[in-house]
Amino acid sequence: MNGILEKTAEALRRRGFDVVCCATGAEARKRVLKVAETADTIGCGGSMTLKEIGAMEALAQTGKAPQRRSDVDLFLLSANALTADGRIVNIDGNGNRVAASVGGPKKVMYVIGRNKIVEGGIDDAIARIKRCACPPNCRRLGKQTPCALTGRCADCDSPDRICKVTVVFDRRPTGIAAEVVLVDEDLGF
Ligand code: SF4
Repeated sequence: MNGILEKTAEALRRRGFDVVCCATGAEARKRVLKVAETADTIGCGGSMTLKEIGAMEALAQTGKAPQRRSDVDLFLLSANALTADGRIVNIDGNGNRVAASVGGPKKVMYVIGRNKIVEGGIDDAIARIKRCACPPNCRRLGKQTPCALTGRCADCDSPDRICKVTVVFDRRPTGIAAEVVLVDEDLGF
């Protein structure tokens, strides 16, 4: 396990999150499936990371394909960025994913690859999201935004803008179980 992952795991624990460290995406998938055994209903806000580790397909095979809803036992997502001092940062276009990560599910489970960790603070995290996550996501979703065309954020006024709601978790929210699965692989963007 690399040093930055260990440092980030400790910081997340201090902020109230349960943390499981995995060397590979395959290990992370096993962890997701194990926790999913205890859930009757599962939600997901859309995540390339969960697709890449094969969790979505594996859950569908068990008859528990994640739904696009938040009133579930277990809600799965990743993070757009994670600071090494343990703060999770997510940006949404319509806010459904971040809303579900704050309230609704009994448990929230993040699967986060090492490439999402930034060593600076929140500004660094947001810069990473605008640089690394928004352009490919806009292209993937067919959005007509400057970053989709040029790869660079122009702080646009486009109706297709996907960064409209920013949520920073300074601590685990009260009344909701939250587990972070940190993976020592690059996953998602
Ligand atoms: S503000 Fe616009 S250009 Fe910048 S990352 Fe968001 S969608 Fe892309």
